Amino acid sequence: MSDVPGPGADVVVVGAGVSGLAAARALAQGGKRVVVLEARDRIGGRTWTDDELGVPVDLGASWIHGVDGNPLWELAPAFGIDTVEFTVGSFQFDGRPIGWHAPSGRRLTDAEAASFVADLRALDAALPAVVGHAPPPATYAVAVNTVLRDLHIEGDRAARVREYTAHRSEDLCGAPVTVLDAHGLDEEHVPGDEVVFPGGYGQYARALADGLDVRLGAVVRAVRQSPQGAAVELADGTVVTAAEVVVTVPLGVLQAGSVTFEPPLEPDVLDAMGRLGMGVYDKVFLRFPERFWGDDWVVRQQGPAGVDWHSWYDMSRATGEPVLAALLGGAGARRIESLPDAIIVDEGLTALRRMFGPSVPEPEAVRVTRWAADPFALGSYSFLRVGASTDDHDRLGGRCGRVQLAGEATWGDDPATVHGALLSGLRAAGRLLGHDVTPASLAGPLRV
Ligand SMILES: Cc1cc2nc3c(=O)[nH]c(=O)nc-3n(C[C@H](O)[C@H](O)[C@H](O)COP(=O)(O)OP(=O)(O)OC[C@H]3O[C@@H](n4cnc5c(N)ncnc54)[C@H](O)[C@@H]3O)c2cc1C
Repeated sequence: MSDVPGPGADVVVVGAGVSGLAAARALAQGGKRVVVLEARDRIGGRTWTDDELGVPVDLGASWIHGVDGNPLWELAPAFGIDTVEFTVGSFQFDGRPIGWHAPSGRRLTDAEAASFVADLRALDAALPAVVGHAPPPATYAVAVNTVLRDLHIEGDRAARVREYTAHRSEDLCGAPVTVLDAHGLDEEHVPGDEVVFPGGYGQYARALADGLDVRLGAVVRAVRQSPQGAAVELADGTVVTAAEVVVTVPLGVLQAGSVTFEPPLEPDVLDAMGRLGMGVYDKVFLRFPERFWGDDWVVRQQGPAGVDWHSWYDMSRATGEPVLAALLGGAGARRIESLPDAIIVDEGLTALRRMFGPSVPEPEAVRVTRWAADPFALGSYSFLRVGASTDDHDRLGGRCGRVQLAGEATWGDDPATVHGALLSGLRAAGRLLGHDVTPASLAGPLRV
């Protein structure tokens, strides 16, 4: 477009989440003049540490999913970030204290829990082969049913396993298991322990942003490019020009068309954007006067009572304070987002009293997230909708002239994660610098 003026900055990065800040820091370290435009009045995006409960809690990401080879784990000491081990993900259903509760609310005996866990282990051992042979398009739900049939797991046993895999899909993808592609969890097998941060995930964004030119309250509406340069237009009419633009807004924001591109992005990128899904995952934090839930790190409710309220995490592991977090994904998350906090808390207390009895006290403080309703997220993270392929994530991160997209949804190896977001930002920066950028280099100083 000939009306695009020549460059002001070398690079404009849209979005100050972990992908945008990692890209910007690497570019600035490489000697580029970088401006970061962020719509919110804070940095961090979907890493958001909040202290309204009197202790830091993470309203977005909480965990490093697998420390082995994970760049965030490597950066934690360099950034002075403390961690606490908390390995209770959906693929790690044994090895740590987990309280399983039967549909009635009663805690399973050790023998009952062991038998259920054995069914999950058998399922996970058989799933990869079934998924590998599933003719596309096939959903994760269909793959699970095939395995259950092959293993002759039937009746209530099958129901318990089926509902667990539904929660796995909701947790890891924010999506109902019936729309998740059979390959949607291929990359989720976590290498090594998982950890959380007593001081919150927000510490990474703060460390990455240190010394950068980050402009808050800058809502980007349009990105234009021409042979002369690129122009980024804000909602207030301001135009920021640059030679290159890295856009890291979440997939939900892209799909909604909240940012327009002129000329449009490449057809390959747009097709991938249309095939991938944006899942929803929300958190309900309840701060109690004291702990009443024993020593379990996570408490899980089986059966119909656990359709939405299936998992409660003991956040006192991270905070030392009596805080429980219920994590809800998919349809359950979309449903609670439409309710007022008071009703959500009532539902949560009913769920807890089913397991722990009527003496469960009222919470002293409450914090509820609504990521689908958040205009600068429009969901929690991307997922492989049935019919999409893992390559679609990387296609989304392809280069379109002076513009490229980055962010968790563009990282095929580990989408929906903070480390995926970070690595996607480094990929974008590396393309502009003409060499690969290592995560460890982010701990170094900026060039002045
Ligand atoms: C509830 C929840 C739990 C999660 N749990 C985990 C977990 O335990 N472990 C894990 O690894 N991952 C987890 N994730 C995923 C992880 O948080 C994300 O993958 C990662 O933070 C995404 O980073 P990003 O930079 O790609 O996007 P974002 O962090 O969303 O950054 C994009 C930025 O763009 C900004 N923006 C949007 N629109 C505009 C606009 N028009 N103009 C300017 N700026 C704009 C946004 O405000 C945002 O700051 C979780 C996410 C959620 C929501």
